[in-house]
Amino acid sequence: MIPLDDAWAHVHDAVPRLPVATVTVPDALGLVLAAPVVATAAVPPFDNSAVDGFAVRAADVTAPGTELPVVGEVAAGAVAQGPLEPGGAVRIMTGAPMPDGADAVVMVEDSEVVRSADGTERVRLSVVPGRHRHVRPAGDDVRPGDLVLESGTVLGEAHLGLLATLGRAEVEVHRRPVVGVLSTGDELVPPGRPLAPGQIHDSNRVTLLALCRSAGFDAVDLGLLGDDEAPLESALLDAAARCDAVLTSGGVSMGDHDPVKAVLARIARMRWMQVAIKPAKPFAFGLLDGPAGRPVPVFGLPGNPVSSQVSFELFARPGIRVMGEHPSPHRPRVAARAGEAFARRADGKVHFVRVRLSQDGGLGFVATSAGAQGSHQLSGMAAADGLAVLPDGAGAAVGDRLEVLLLR
Ligand code: AMP
Ligand code: MG
Repeated sequence: MIPLDDAWAHVHDAVPRLPVATVTVPDALGLVLAAPVVATAAVPPFDNSAVDGFAVRAADVTAPGTELPVVGEVAAGAVAQGPLEPGGAVRIMTGAPMPDGADAVVMVEDSEVVRSADGTERVRLSVVPGRHRHVRPAGDDVRPGDLVLESGTVLGEAHLGLLATLGRAEVEVHRRPVVGVLSTGDELVPPGRPLAPGQIHDSNRVTLLALCRSAGFDAVDLGLLGDDEAPLESALLDAAARCDAVLTSGGVSMGDHDPVKAVLARIARMRWMQVAIKPAKPFAFGLLDGPAGRPVPVFGLPGNPVSSQVSFELFARPGIRVMGEHPSPHRPRVAARAGEAFARRADGKVHFVRVRLSQDGGLGFVATSAGAQGSHQLSGMAAADGLAVLPDGAGAAVGDRLEVLLLR
């Protein structure tokens, strides 16, 4: 067996890095910026009102109850007719540009409009605004020349909005990885079809495709393959031609001759590992030949459903994120108190126990078992918020500090 860190280091060092591409801002969610973003203009681009109200010259309003004639109106998207002369007020909407000469805004809530018989309007202001009151100055969010986003930023929802506010329609990022997923095994039947004796439903493919999608990868369903070498070989060669990485499930354990092993040994530069973890001990990693000699990593995940997910979390998800230059490829780990005893025996492996997390009344977490812990038992996995990491030894007693890898 090899330590988890060694298996991970092997993957980390072997995966190729994806090229830089220009994508539209809405398509950039979750991708990593490949170039800094520098503002070329101010945001906001002009002084504008933060509220609906009346733009005034602050010097004209010296006491509560001051009345000024309403000399104009400016809506968002419009511009004032002309400068605000001393002694007047302009009705102004949130986001509308300040008229020249105006230097403060009184909120509509602090005003009362008095209409004269001749149809003219005056506004009575119940407060005295200081200069700049309720005015958002040009550039108070971003100034021209500001380094707004550094290269290496992982673009979240708000970053996309920030890019849009700068007027950017496209950004340079590390390309979104295209990840193919296939299942192997003669015993497998797609969900929706009845089972003959000895058969089970193929659950890994639907889970792995979903895990890929939520990791922000472009997931490609490569289908369900049996245990015949020829179709498996052509599926893998086809996958290498159109994917950046390939995930297989099944056929990598120590057992007898397995077609996955035979085919991968033939067409990829493979390393077969027994990782000192439970579940997900068997793991294969290698490189297929893609177009123009480009290496395409293949992650040979174990067949047991919980094992394939754990192996995905420990190797495939972070490995593919490294391909996209992700600065923190791993799931975060948090500290939690053991809400129950987690007994185990020493076996040279690190155990990953499916746990639920709850708040402990303060700001901390309490971990309790999420249910059945067998590597074939998806019920416990489905209920889990995370994987408690139990180092080799006797396990944890109630109240002990645990490290928990967050799954969501
Ligand atoms: P294998 O490593 O191919 O021998 O598979 C180990 C165990 O995982 C066996 O019980 C398989 O039936 C099961 N298994 C393999 N692939 C899948 C799959 N795609 N969905 C559900 N179970 C699977
Ligand atoms: Mg199999």
